[in-house]
Amino acid sequence: MLVLGKDEKAKYPFLADAGKYLQEYGFELPQFGTDPILKDIVDKAYERVMAATSGSVYKSGLADGRAVQDRMLDVEILSFLFAIVLIKLANRHTLVRRFALSEARRAESYLAGDLSDRRDRSRVDMARRILHDLFGLKVEMRDYRYLIPVPDYLKHSSVFHEREWKLVNRQVEDGHVILKPDKTVRLIRHALTTYISEKIRDSPVPDMIPGLEGMVAELVAVADKLTPAYESTGEHPPCIKHAINVLKSGENLPHSGRFMLATFLLARGQPVEEIAPLFKNAPDYSERVTMYQLNHLSGRTGGVKYNCPSCDKLRTQNLCFAVPECDGIITPLQFGRRRKAAQHEQQHQSSDVEPAEEGEPA
Ligand code: SF4
Repeated sequence: MLVLGKDEKAKYPFLADAGKYLQEYGFELPQFGTDPILKDIVDKAYERVMAATSGSVYKSGLADGRAVQDRMLDVEILSFLFAIVLIKLANRHTLVRRFALSEARRAESYLAGDLSDRRDRSRVDMARRILHDLFGLKVEMRDYRYLIPVPDYLKHSSVFHEREWKLVNRQVEDGHVILKPDKTVRLIRHALTTYISEKIRDSPVPDMIPGLEGMVAELVAVADKLTPAYESTGEHPPCIKHAINVLKSGENLPHSGRFMLATFLLARGQPVEEIAPLFKNAPDYSERVTMYQLNHLSGRTGGVKYNCPSCDKLRTQNLCFAVPECDGIITPLQFGRRRKAAQHEQQHQSSDVEPAEEGEPA
């Protein structure tokens, strides 16, 4: 079991025992709505959630992972715990995912810093223990090089689509993958996000705290704006449905997946303005960048319209989730057409009428 000091709890507040900590602090939840002493904690909690909704990482008051004042440590830990209370009160799934991802990214930077600390071995050991005890990632150190056993690496890198994470593109020695500290901790971002999400989901839903109704209503409004109205149709191929679901759940869709999704929908005749809201839930969403990219892909700017990638290409990018209906097609745009063509042909054969020619994909 990890025994943490206050400094560590401030850096990794998801490891703090929420109930115990609040109890030790000696305040009841309703006091957070009215007590001026607790206002900085409530404001920071709100700030943390809002930072997450904008896709950024909340900047804490810790300098180099250490607080300058004891009070600051309490604010760091309690604002995390109270942010969870606000999220439970707002009751929006998109806040859970975004907050968990943002806090995972924040913890990642502390873990990378601790792991590479050459002066204080206890920080290195704590980071290694967190990685191992919570996420089953064994990190060995030899001459300040970080070695991950290949099975651990494969387990954690399976969620990445980018080429750089493929084992063949990594330096492997003696059954271990050699990584820098930032890449080592990047491996557990998905697991850490899931860990924090589950922590939030398992937290009890408190009663509304008098005095905080307005703050909670603001969070609900922000979350509802982030939830894309787009509904995927049953006609989309599995690769496209998967990409839409990834975005809807607030997960990160790699660049290649965004390219596939945008070019597919554009080829299906959907206007840029209808496609853009789909990306609202992406952790790094920017309306300006999204519109610029969609206009570029559609040929509105630049004059070149980009085609949807082939199934072969998508398979190499780990974006293919083929089902039997995908048999024989070479681009996602053909999904559903063959079956319709076959049905069409069957009908014509039975009525002795020549079938119409099926159009080629764009
Ligand atoms: S086979 Fe093609 S259409 Fe089917 S899931 Fe894979 S990439 Fe998509």
